[in-house]
Amino acid sequence: MKFSEMPYKRPNIKEVVTKLEEFNQRFKAATSAEEQAELYRAYNDFSVDFNTNYWICSIRNTIDTRDEFYEAENAFFDENMPLISTKNVEIAKTLVESPYRSELEELLGAHLFELMECSLVINEKAIPFMQKENELVTEYSKLIATAEVPFRGKIYTLTQMAPLLQNTDRSFRREAYEAHIAFFEKHEAEFDRIYDELVQVRTEMAQALGFENFVELRYKLMNRTDYNRDDVAKYREKVLKSITPLAVELRKKQAERLGIDDMKYYDRSLSFADGNAIPQGDTQFIVDNAQKMYRELSPETGRFFDFMVENELMDLEAKPGKRSGGYCTSLNKYKAPFIFSNFNGSKGDIDVITHEAGHAFQNFMAQEMPFEEYIWPTYEAAEIHSMSMEFLTWPWMNLFFGADADKFRYSALTDAICFIPYGCTIDHFQHFVYENPGASPEERKAAYHEIELMYQPDLDYDNEFFTKGTWWFKQGHVFASPFYYIDYTLAQVCAFQYLLKSLDDREKTLEEYITLCRAGGSESFFKLLGIGNIENPMTSSVLEDITPRLLEVAQDLEEKSLR
Ligand code: ZN
Repeated sequence: MKFSEMPYKRPNIKEVVTKLEEFNQRFKAATSAEEQAELYRAYNDFSVDFNTNYWICSIRNTIDTRDEFYEAENAFFDENMPLISTKNVEIAKTLVESPYRSELEELLGAHLFELMECSLVINEKAIPFMQKENELVTEYSKLIATAEVPFRGKIYTLTQMAPLLQNTDRSFRREAYEAHIAFFEKHEAEFDRIYDELVQVRTEMAQALGFENFVELRYKLMNRTDYNRDDVAKYREKVLKSITPLAVELRKKQAERLGIDDMKYYDRSLSFADGNAIPQGDTQFIVDNAQKMYRELSPETGRFFDFMVENELMDLEAKPGKRSGGYCTSLNKYKAPFIFSNFNGSKGDIDVITHEAGHAFQNFMAQEMPFEEYIWPTYEAAEIHSMSMEFLTWPWMNLFFGADADKFRYSALTDAICFIPYGCTIDHFQHFVYENPGASPEERKAAYHEIELMYQPDLDYDNEFFTKGTWWFKQGHVFASPFYYIDYTLAQVCAFQYLLKSLDDREKTLEEYITLCRAGGSESFFKLLGIGNIENPMTSSVLEDITPRLLEVAQDLEEKSLR
């Protein structure tokens, strides 16, 4: 079914709640593991319908945040989803405490129970906090989505500004950068207030639920069953030792290529003095070539992309009122992934058609899982599929960039390397924030700047406002998805492994990758790494091991690009 034809109807929350309470009673009254397992299947079907309806609303709302109908529907869900979550938690509690637990684990899989145990941290005490949190996140998203940046006689959205920062003229770049910063500076008090309220409400929620602070609660809510904050801190140390120096070295080389001896922040997005690689066509050109690419890559990816095109499951172009960024979600009732993005004519558009499509492909491959919980894995694992697809599609980059394909590959690789220290900055900062909830907005900003200099010692904003420690205002995850950031860096290290392996043996690597996609979310992160034949970035020495080879590949691509 085409996305535009999928029906949406506001659910009757009272009926949904009654139905969920009935399920809970029936689970409790069941007299065998088989009976509970059978009921679980019916409960799963009910949830799939409810969630699909929710996602249709959410997608349509993000496509046009000015559409009043879906705006109201979205507010309705913001208000009611916490109640639904707590009803689901009550069911999870019944199942976790089931007298038939061990037989049930045999029938439904042990990982389902690990996930349900994580969800138990929430109860109805959390509802008012979650409602307030939802409102604040919506307020932040709207502030960003409706931003209008005047620059050289035109008005831009924040997303449309990004390619201007890749301009080959340094004074142009600087001017665009300053226009863009002016928006954040103008709204500084608003960003500070929204974030401060978010930190307070999350901390109060954690304490109401019996946690010392929000960190531990959030780890549970993110279903992190394999590692804790100390393991993450140790992993960030590894990054500091191996990736930070490599990123600094790459930026030194970049400065040499650009002929600049005082590399500033606004120079970072430009890889080559004569310009970055840009896609040689519009959205339709990109979609057509992506279709050719996915058909050639493998029969599975071909079937997947044809399905996306046929059912209009992608909304790609930037337009006024559209929420910023990109995401992939799914409408499981229709076994359909959905891709949302803001194309802006830069190389980033190709990242979307590979990154978000990587998520969508994984979702498509895992649609035969028996339960919705097993379709998407936890975030660190989910980003492996997307980030690896960016690399596995490298052989087709000439379709999009012609003779500049190596330039693109070089930028993609070096951007990915330089991203890791930044990702650790965002993660480290959030640990500071939620471990010190009493810190003032000014203290938070000071801490941010100190942390970012640790991971990126060569950072020079050449701007007072950002130097004060405000860069993260731009980073939506800090507001909307706390602690969802280290995940990208972990997945990036996994994607590097697939890249390096694919340079030696493309077929075998693709097979390992597809096996991982098929496994969906049926296991935890560490176990999925085993299924995908990937070394664990947290517990092994893989970071140190791959660093020299990454530099080698980058150097080789740089030479080819400059030839
Ligand atoms: Zn992603």
